[in-house]
Amino acid sequence: MSVRLLPDYLVDQIAAGEVVENGASVVKETVENALDAGADQIMIDVVDGGRTLINIVDNGGGMSRDDLEKCIMRHATSKLPDDNLLNIHFMGFRGEALPSIASVSDMTIDTCNGADSNGWHLDCNTGEIRPSDWQAGTRIRVQNLFAKTPARLKFLRTDRAEMMSILDVIKRLAMARTDVGFVLNNKWRFPKNQDLMERIVAVMGEDVRGRMHAVAAESGSANGMKLSGYISDPTLRRASSVDQFLFVNGRPVKDKVLVGALRAAYMDVMHAREFPLCALYLTLPPEMVDVNVSPTKTDVHFLEPNHVRAFIIKSLREVLAKTMSSESAVDSSSPVRMDFHGPIISRTFAPTGVLHTASRVCAPNIVNNELFSPVQNKQPNIKNESVDSIFDTGPLGRVIGQIANKYILAATENSLVVVDQHAAHERITYEKMRLGKIKSQPLLTPIVVRMRAEDVTAILSIADEMKNSGLVVDAFGEDAVAIFEKPSDWDLNWANVLHDIADEVRAYGHSAQLSEKLHLKLANHACHHSVRAGQKLNFEQMDALLRDIEKTEHGGECNHGRPVYKFIPLDEIDGWFER
Ligand code: ADP
Ligand code: MG
Repeated sequence: MSVRLLPDYLVDQIAAGEVVENGASVVKETVENALDAGADQIMIDVVDGGRTLINIVDNGGGMSRDDLEKCIMRHATSKLPDDNLLNIHFMGFRGEALPSIASVSDMTIDTCNGADSNGWHLDCNTGEIRPSDWQAGTRIRVQNLFAKTPARLKFLRTDRAEMMSILDVIKRLAMARTDVGFVLNNKWRFPKNQDLMERIVAVMGEDVRGRMHAVAAESGSANGMKLSGYISDPTLRRASSVDQFLFVNGRPVKDKVLVGALRAAYMDVMHAREFPLCALYLTLPPEMVDVNVSPTKTDVHFLEPNHVRAFIIKSLREVLAKTMSSESAVDSSSPVRMDFHGPIISRTFAPTGVLHTASRVCAPNIVNNELFSPVQNKQPNIKNESVDSIFDTGPLGRVIGQIANKYILAATENSLVVVDQHAAHERITYEKMRLGKIKSQPLLTPIVVRMRAEDVTAILSIADEMKNSGLVVDAFGEDAVAIFEKPSDWDLNWANVLHDIADEVRAYGHSAQLSEKLHLKLANHACHHSVRAGQKLNFEQMDALLRDIEKTEHGGECNHGRPVYKFIPLDEIDGWFER
């Protein structure tokens, strides 16, 4: 076989593999082009999750006939006038998107730049250009995505799932540019020149109103960084990162330096499995950041990542500390806050010190713990010796007490056993659910939960899995879901539960592990509702929990792989006392 240069159409299809993964990437590239062309009104229409049609109309500057001819050639761009890859002021700059999309679809472009007396129409399959009556701006029509590359077509997920990804792209761009109006399928509308907070509500949902705190910080030093936007109160959180919007010099990114800094800032006030919401805009001199890292450009390289990280953590912690100390009446009605402080308070990491105050304000009950609460005091008629005879003990031993309303202490003949009561309960519930042992109960009046249309879609896409977990749901109009059956005895905050599940589905899609994840979520909610950390248990309750966990398959590990109990052997205890 001799070496040969690949034909252009193959090179384009290979390049398209990097740039065009699905309908969402087509939407991203074309909408970014519209923004680069100065549009302030962009209409996006999508049919069948993008498979059949993606139509983008913008009111930007348009193209001349000459530019139209060049725009679908590889590496043709109008956006690097001085050939300097470090000085990038546009969203796109690689000149790859249009040729890539054209190579895997049937694409046409209509455009008019206002200088020519008429508009132009390009059929990208034939390369033919003819005059048209298109008046202003540009329209890109992408039909039959991946029809030319059937192998890739197979990788598209369901139309619903693809549509959710497209909506996510539009939301990210809508958060990047509040001055621009976006309309998706005439259903999701973000009007132009919207106030940032209003746009945040439009994108993230009504529940965030009044619960976001403004950020405005400057690094002050020579590296000239600025951070602005909003972050959520710690009482407001999501089950995934869906509502984290991060921007570097106006460009939406999912960069690990920024995500890590955000997590670190909330470390003491939010559980690691919870995600704060944010719309954060970092600006820094273009030469301090390289955006030319990945073809889809959601990663960036900072010249000084440690400075960036430190600046963000410090700025966010200042905001969080202020909100905590100013509201000493921190909305103690919120169940969320109470749920999550048990595990968090025990962290020692708080280098700035500010969050110690924060924790104290919001979780006074736990800081003020009695380190060891011998249950005998509360049960005067049960003497230690008689305990054995009252309860049959199993491998986890006999209950001797509870620590910090979180851990059950038990003793076997030759070890001390410490049981995480929350993890234990979660494990038991999860196993019951997995084995289909949760009984469901039809409701006389369905429970109606209002949700955004995209969340309704997410929930409906997993209705079958939910049924297996004892939850029967259906749509209730465009923006609500009705629960018709639920597991008996479970009186949870169903709005929270469904929103959490929707977040999860939107973040991870309809994957093979979905029903497992769903069980986890439900078990997690069920446990926060009952035997959660921070609840005092009586002797009988503790014993019942231990005996239940002994009977549960995989009883030793929590659903997330965390341990449920730990044995401390007598040998080890002897060692402490140098016996
Ligand atoms: P890039 O955006 O990286 O330059 P693209 O392949 O996305 O590469 O686009 C190629 C060129 O086509 C752009 O540089 C721009 O000049 C032109 N173009 C694309 N879309 C539009 C649009 N909606 N309005 C005006 N010009 C456009
Ligand atoms: Mg582009």
